[in-house]
Amino acid sequence: MSTHTIATSFEQISHQIAVSATRSLRNPQEIQLIAVSKTQPPDAIQQLLETGHSLFGESRVQEALAKIPLIASNAKWHFIGHLQKNKIRQALPIFECLESVDSLELAVNIDRIARELGLFPRVLLEINIATESSKHGFHPDHLRAEMESLLALERLQIEGFMGIPPRAKTAEDSRRYFAKLREIRDATSAEFRVPLPQLSMGMSGDFPVAIEEGATMVRVGTALFGERAGKTWKPAADAGD
Ligand SMILES: *Cc1c(COP(=O)(O)O)cnc(C)c1O
Repeated sequence: MSTHTIATSFEQISHQIAVSATRSLRNPQEIQLIAVSKTQPPDAIQQLLETGHSLFGESRVQEALAKIPLIASNAKWHFIGHLQKNKIRQALPIFECLESVDSLELAVNIDRIARELGLFPRVLLEINIATESSKHGFHPDHLRAEMESLLALERLQIEGFMGIPPRAKTAEDSRRYFAKLREIRDATSAEFRVPLPQLSMGMSGDFPVAIEEGATMVRVGTALFGERAGKTWKPAADAGD
């Protein structure tokens, strides 16, 4: 997309966020836009950064490691993909929040490595809202049993939940899954007496509905940057440095 188009899309999405927040009697300020920049080249990210937006989401550690050094250092990054155990050490220093902690085993490993690195990472727990076999995340029925162990991990700052509803034809089809994630959050927060303020839910096709159901973070890629060209972005082999 051209500079103009990215800036225009950003304005439209910001406006839509404000409209959806106001409609549901919420303060637009409490909703963060995560610009999902996976597969997008650094110059597109830089263009959005220049409009004043600085929060981005990446789903592959390798791609982020290659890209981040090429982008102005005021950009902030959330990790939103499936994190492999052998990438934790590289991911922790570059992401200010890991939104997709999807198993107790992963959480335990993040906690251990965070201690070695002297970090207290902010994390969200990814919930497999509709218990799809194709998706990662905590099964809603198993979460209660694992919550005690998760909360005992001293290094993790667990701020809330992240979820991705099943692929749907219309945004309205996602509403009940967003509502379900909010209910799981409310119940878990009450039972374990912990604040879990963040709910990361909603993407390009359905973020207004997610906001109406309580999202505090929306992860928007295509609607900002246009269609993704491939599965990953790689620096040109002959780019030199
Ligand atoms: C790619 C991705 C998004 C963004 O999806 P769009 O439909 O392009 O807005 C959001 N969340 C996660 C976890 C993703 O992997």
